[in-house]
Amino acid sequence: MDYYSETISRLIAELGHLPGVGTKSAQRLAFHIINMPEEQVRQLTDTILSARTNVRYCKECFTLTDRELCPICSSDKRDHHIIMVVENSRDLAAYEKTGQYRGVYHVLQGAISPMLGIGPNDIRLKELLIRLQGDVDEVIIATNPTVEGEATAMYLSKLLKPTGIRVTRIASGVPVGGDLEYIDEVTLLKALENRKEL
Ligand code: ZN
Repeated sequence: MDYYSETISRLIAELGHLPGVGTKSAQRLAFHIINMPEEQVRQLTDTILSARTNVRYCKECFTLTDRELCPICSSDKRDHHIIMVVENSRDLAAYEKTGQYRGVYHVLQGAISPMLGIGPNDIRLKELLIRLQGDVDEVIIATNPTVEGEATAMYLSKLLKPTGIRVTRIASGVPVGGDLEYIDEVTLLKALENRKEL
């Protein structure tokens, strides 16, 4: 790429490291940025930097937030005795969009995957177990209907059996291999309503 000056090449290379951005898109983005008003570029870089610096995990549910406790965990309008376990913050957002779920969440930040070498200790399972020592009536397992999501659900249900807490799994209205964040709200709600005891 030495037909561009070094500064441009570096920008293209950096943008190309982002997921889903190939060389062509990286070039297009780079030239777009170079042609943007300087003030707008500064706003973009400030926003990125501020997000990176200020966003952290909620100390209760481990979703991404810019406060110590996320708005859901700190709300007294939510039922803190019902915990829905999801894989990531995008899945939490998918369920929040339905506007019907009144409980709280636990975000595992991943799923168990023997193939990728991700074990129970690599996700936020320990933290969930600690939360369950409190007053919890039900744990709804809403991991994705993928091999990893199912493996995680199985592991969790076995782990939770001895606690005596009611454990349910969202119904399979969610297509197998599907990703919760891409599923429409009606299907998500059905899956929640038709959840099964584990
Ligand atoms: Zn939280």
